[in-house]
Amino acid sequence: MDAKQAALEAELAEHLQRAAEVASRLQKLEQGRGTPHYDQIESAAHEVGQRLSRMVQRTRAGDVAIEHPGEAKCPDCRRSCPVETETRQVTSTDGPVDVTETRAYCTCCRRSFFPSAESLGS
Ligand SMILES: [Zn+2]
Repeated sequence: MDAKQAALEAELAEHLQRAAEVASRLQKLEQGRGTPHYDQIESAAHEVGQRLSRMVQRTRAGDVAIEHPGEAKCPDCRRSCPVETETRQVTSTDGPVDVTETRAYCTCCRRSFFPSAESLGS
């Protein structure tokens, strides 16, 4: 692990610890008085985890789309085609996520395609 990765891991651990403390306080507020059963603690914690997962998926997919070059080669005719971004909802294992994806359209072949790393280049 290099220094940059170690710093990001430490930053993530710090933020997750803080998020866990806030989620715990919120859970206490929602559960009210009395001692909760452990499954109540677990299911509420799991929901927070799924929410975090959806946020990471949305953010990472958006970053990937933004970093993508503006053109991609059509897999059929190999012409360079403009790449655009669009948002669609996907059903992840942690629930629905609005993800931003890249899509290109070849006017010659009259087809849309998802640009991949292979279709990059000039
Ligand atoms: Zn084409």
